Amino acid sequence: MFDKILVANRGEIACRIIRTARRLGVATVAVYSEADAGALHVELADEAWPIGPAPARESYLCIDKLIDAAHSSGARAIHPGYGFLAENEGFAEACARAGIAFIGPPAAAIRAMGSKSAAKNLMEQAGIPLVPGYHGDDQQAETLREAARAIGYPLLIKASAGGGGKGMRVVRGPADFDAALASARREAASAFGDDRVLLEKYLERPRHVEIQVFADSQGNALHLFERDCSIQRRHQKILEEAPAPGMPPELRGRMGEAAVAAARAIGYLGAGTVEFLLAADGRFYFMEMNTRLQVEHPVTEMITGQDLVEWQLRVAAGAPLPCRQEDLTLCGHAIEARVYAEDPAREFLPSTGVLAHLRPPQPNPHVRVDTGVRQGDAVSIHYDPMIAKLIVWDQDRPSALRRLQKALADYQVVGVATNLQFLAAVAAHPAYQQGDFDTHFIERHHEALF
Ligand code: ADP
Repeated sequence: MFDKILVANRGEIACRIIRTARRLGVATVAVYSEADAGALHVELADEAWPIGPAPARESYLCIDKLIDAAHSSGARAIHPGYGFLAENEGFAEACARAGIAFIGPPAAAIRAMGSKSAAKNLMEQAGIPLVPGYHGDDQQAETLREAARAIGYPLLIKASAGGGGKGMRVVRGPADFDAALASARREAASAFGDDRVLLEKYLERPRHVEIQVFADSQGNALHLFERDCSIQRRHQKILEEAPAPGMPPELRGRMGEAAVAAARAIGYLGAGTVEFLLAADGRFYFMEMNTRLQVEHPVTEMITGQDLVEWQLRVAAGAPLPCRQEDLTLCGHAIEARVYAEDPAREFLPSTGVLAHLRPPQPNPHVRVDTGVRQGDAVSIHYDPMIAKLIVWDQDRPSALRRLQKALADYQVVGVATNLQFLAAVAAHPAYQQGDFDTHFIERHHEALF
């Protein structure tokens, strides 16, 4: 095991990584921008190094500064968390050049999955089912128009380099295609500096079901079941749960095997997530693979009793996976709610300010709060306005849901607007309670939720 690691991140995920490292006797180095000098992750770490001004591109996204901090502090490995540089192959390469272990997959695996089109080509070769569509190199409008005709409508235009729902356009019929293509390209070019797109058949009522996979350097790979992340707003996840409501064990097994095959096909190492769309007829299709620890990993931890950050550290240090597929069992039900400083009444505009009063529900074996802020801290314009991830667990879904509703009601935040009431409205909705939902749940029930 490493004796010291640097955590190249901030907020709740930096704090969460530091906690596990500490439990394992691994010393931790935090890095911080000028806005974060007094932040919780700085307080929790054994030592902390400044890396520049508040804007992320001058601090948390500066590869050189992070490598320098690792060298100066004597850290042997870097955990990138999620976001920032977690899926940046240049960062993984820079770590390797500097002789520092990157706690994540090899740069080649990040590259392989970095482009949605390239990833789909690879997955097609590996025999993983794909949404019918076009993901070729020829990007001429005429070629795309022709491909769209063959796929049929409705269809979805996606940015190849996409992420965070950016550069995505639903097209209902051929008359709308050209305008949608132009606007998807514009958005993709400005968000990713790459205007290439792919086309997919638009599935009308799919669920977003993703599989947590893990691989070690000795050729072992396994999955830790699924998460259902269908409750989304503008293609962004809001509530996630494990297992997926109503998931037949046989389908779980097949999706798990497909995900492990996907990981093997690209020589994967560490934690990864293979995202699928699950259609109402039980067919599933590969969407993309995220080559990092996901925001929603705690629900998997709650139903498996495993610590995924511990697994990441062990595997990065060269150890084998701590168990075999058949040793893993799924126990109970977990739900995560993302608590944001944002104003649902104003189009979910991020809300900044000082957390004048902050009282999360009391953590216990049923309730976990992963947060990076304390009372008195400020939510600034510089970073993601997430206040916390609230995770609940119980023996079954109805009991877990009751825990969630109680915990949301108990959560006290004064000083910024939050989405707590909105989350509570979703949790109270009869369709959600019955597990009767797909990725359009929020749009469909808009009236009841606001
Ligand atoms: P991003 O990487 O930008 O988040 P994804 O490809 O992961 O984009 O898709 C985000 C969400 O968009 C999915 O979770 C799903 O809700 C929706 N989506 C993606 N592809 C399709 C499709 N072919 N049909 C219907 N919905 C889709």
